Amino acid sequence: MLQLNADIRAALWPRVIEAVESYITGVGDVRVEAVPTPEQVRSLLTPFDFTTPQEPVSAIDFIVDGLWNHQTHTSHPSYFGLFNPAPTTMGIAADTLIAAFNPQLAAWSHSPLAVEIEQHLIRAFGSRFGYDPAAMDGSFTTCGGESNNTALLTAMTHLYPDYRERGIRALPGQPVIYVSSESHHTFLKAAQASGLGSEAVHEVGVDNTLRMDPDALRRRMADDRAAGLLPLMVVATAGTTSGGIVDPIARLADVAQEEGIWLHADAAWGGAATLSPTLSPVLDGIDRADSITFDAHKWLSAPMGAGMFFTRHPDILTRTFAVNTPYMPIDPEVRTINPSMHSMQWSRRFIGLKVFLALAVAGWDGYAEVIERQAALGDRLRAGLAEDGWAIVNDTPLPVVCFTDRTDGVDGTADYHKGIVDAVNESGKAWISFTRIGPDLQPVIRACISNYRTGTDEVDGLVSLLSEIRHARRGDQHA
Ligand SMILES: *Cc1c(COP(=O)(O)O)cnc(C)c1O
Repeated sequence: MLQLNADIRAALWPRVIEAVESYITGVGDVRVEAVPTPEQVRSLLTPFDFTTPQEPVSAIDFIVDGLWNHQTHTSHPSYFGLFNPAPTTMGIAADTLIAAFNPQLAAWSHSPLAVEIEQHLIRAFGSRFGYDPAAMDGSFTTCGGESNNTALLTAMTHLYPDYRERGIRALPGQPVIYVSSESHHTFLKAAQASGLGSEAVHEVGVDNTLRMDPDALRRRMADDRAAGLLPLMVVATAGTTSGGIVDPIARLADVAQEEGIWLHADAAWGGAATLSPTLSPVLDGIDRADSITFDAHKWLSAPMGAGMFFTRHPDILTRTFAVNTPYMPIDPEVRTINPSMHSMQWSRRFIGLKVFLALAVAGWDGYAEVIERQAALGDRLRAGLAEDGWAIVNDTPLPVVCFTDRTDGVDGTADYHKGIVDAVNESGKAWISFTRIGPDLQPVIRACISNYRTGTDEVDGLVSLLSEIRHARRGDQHA
């Protein structure tokens, strides 16, 4: 039953491939957003009591139909959402093959090619970030959250070598992580899960461009040291999630160096700018970071999830994660990476293949071209919105646009802006989001372009849709 016979397989595979191909060609023709109720979704599952075996082909048809109708289509060219791009064709092929070959990357000896491909990519991307490929290390991770967690653990192990054996109780005080108020909340989770506690995360104020203020950081650290706390790590966000803001990495590197603490660059999505000659200067100084988080499943369009972690301390991952085990097929004489001894995961799939195959086919130049086209679409969106009287709130060359309605007679509250976002999403024609940015948590509408399918038609379509919706709502208000 677990291995279906050849006749059934011969009927099954074409069905699967056909579903993949029709999704790729047809996803732009359906509503972007799906809004079923939980009851509707659960009722689809009632027939599955697992006592009556299903026909393989009808089980496949069930899920294909179900996914078409019950998900928000992040691959849709008018999905201007949360860095969930359309996956690359080579990435889809990669994940399909991996399911069949099922390489186990815990130990090098089981999957030497897979482990070496990942290490090859880690060095290739590390060099793009300015690291010396001969004096760095890194690992693929499930996601940016795992990479940020890894940064915290490596920083702890680097500053407090006893941490690994004796935990935080061995420390003479409470360690502190400094993030900007615009940073990602994975650092709170990391602090909660590592035993540091969420109070270890100190938010540092931003300047009027929403970048972390290095002087504010210095003052905060001095106060903390005076209070007996132990500055551990400062996080430079290189592309904030809401506004695409890049902290002043080089200036934060100066502070980290003076203070003798770890600098982590969270470049989860913005790191892709390093592949574009015109955008890469925005990341100046990132090579000075002790570690970097980057997600290939965001702007590089890898199917989820494909996180990456880089560090310029070649032995820190092993010092942080290695344990002694009698049962792993690890030969101490063979000097290779064994991912289970070198990252948070143990058993693990071949995450890097979807990045490898896509990059092998597109090349650096292919990626640079897509990224620059998307940045240009971001500029087009900003210009179109400004022309229609929207105010652009965030200052970034990256293709994420936060805006508000500041025209006369409009109520600029969170509810008003959420109402516009809801109306766009309910139309099914596009998908955008609501967020808040800045020290006063200003309510804004947010649209980002990280899908390679998005073109000028979709961008112009979004601008006119927003204008129509605003017009209709004003009419309502005056009625
Ligand atoms: C998306 C994001 C994360 C979290 O990454 P996941 O892959 O979703 O875990 C962390 N930091 C930033 C800046 C992000 O944009």
